[in-house]
Amino acid sequence: MEIKISPVVLVTCTLALLAAVDGKLRYENYGVYKIDITNADQLTLLQKLESTPNGYTFLEYPAQVNKSVEVVISPSEKFTAERLFKKHSIGSTLLTSNLQQILDKERPSRRKLEGFGWDDYHTLEEIYEWIDGMVAQYPSVLSVDTIGQTYEGRDMKVIKLSYKPGNVGIYIDANIHAREWITSATITWVLNELLTSEEPNVRFIAENYDWYIVPVANPDGFAYTHTTERLWRKTRTQHNLLCYGTDPNRNFNFQWNNGGTSTTPCSDTYSGPAPESEVEVSNLTTFVRSIAANVKLALSIHSRGQYILFPFGYNNAPRAYNYQDLLQVGQRASVDMYKLYNKPYRVGTTADALYVASGISVDWAFAVAGIPLSYTYELRDQGEFGFILPADQIVPNGEELLEGFIAMIDEARVLGYM
Ligand SMILES: [Zn+2]
Repeated sequence: MEIKISPVVLVTCTLALLAAVDGKLRYENYGVYKIDITNADQLTLLQKLESTPNGYTFLEYPAQVNKSVEVVISPSEKFTAERLFKKHSIGSTLLTSNLQQILDKERPSRRKLEGFGWDDYHTLEEIYEWIDGMVAQYPSVLSVDTIGQTYEGRDMKVIKLSYKPGNVGIYIDANIHAREWITSATITWVLNELLTSEEPNVRFIAENYDWYIVPVANPDGFAYTHTTERLWRKTRTQHNLLCYGTDPNRNFNFQWNNGGTSTTPCSDTYSGPAPESEVEVSNLTTFVRSIAANVKLALSIHSRGQYILFPFGYNNAPRAYNYQDLLQVGQRASVDMYKLYNKPYRVGTTADALYVASGISVDWAFAVAGIPLSYTYELRDQGEFGFILPADQIVPNGEELLEGFIAMIDEARVLGYM
């Protein structure tokens, strides 16, 4: 088989290498554009652009007409891109002309040399070390287990918090999308609150439910965002010569490849060569199956956009059998979260409220594992910083998430689920 690499790709790769002086890609003069998809031709063109290794990083998959998506464009491609948008009458707005400036605001300028905390983001090793420390500090209620290894051999860890036998279980995973750092940061903050808070409503949910938390569900991708490419989303399996990774949240074995996915390995929403092709996904599903009989609430923490989403996400899906309950529990969380910092979280099915997406974990947890209340939280924000939320928002966003958990559990109790 002859492999052709276009000169454009070579130039782009060379530029990417040049930009990565210390091994870490810098986004100096990378533009972020919001582009509007208004017809099928534009959609096809954008899907093709998204699936080709070039100077474009789509922050959402161009899944459907009448949606906007954001795309990061390298300086060398800006001119060509703007011409292309004009030629195809694609409406575009330049949100920022230098992404690096936003990245520079993500971490505090003065970093603590040691110790864990929530005024900065942490690496996988730091998160795992903190967990081990907490387990040593709270050995009677907290334990940690390895549910398997990743493609590159890293441990996948789950924490169990249990104050007494007989509790109903809650399952949570975070950071299955590598670049969504706010998700593992807030979930570790929430765990710390469950252990240390003296608030009666926090004590109630901590002590009367068993919590299973996978704080980083995509360790390889997460490590890669720290060392090399901040905006990496997928796993790190290699599926062809040029491109790595599968979108783990399109790889679950339910309605796989039925909308909002790509079958091209270079796409950021590549669904993989087969359902559960990713070892990370099969590790998660094996674990969830082992606890599912006792779990009534499953939560997958993502960013961004501020949504609370429930099944289903795939093409032309029917309503879930308990749609009204799912909506009611989600809306209750949204109302209570809003009271804290006036941040609106939209509630609905993934397909209705956000976009069509299939092979996703919440749909799998609901339909296959049989967990009746299953939600995706899309955390902050709604556009200003996107995936690179400044670290000073970890605690307030964590407070919102905890408030959402309290509200969901309370409403689920009213409805008799838990
Ligand atoms: Zn995500």
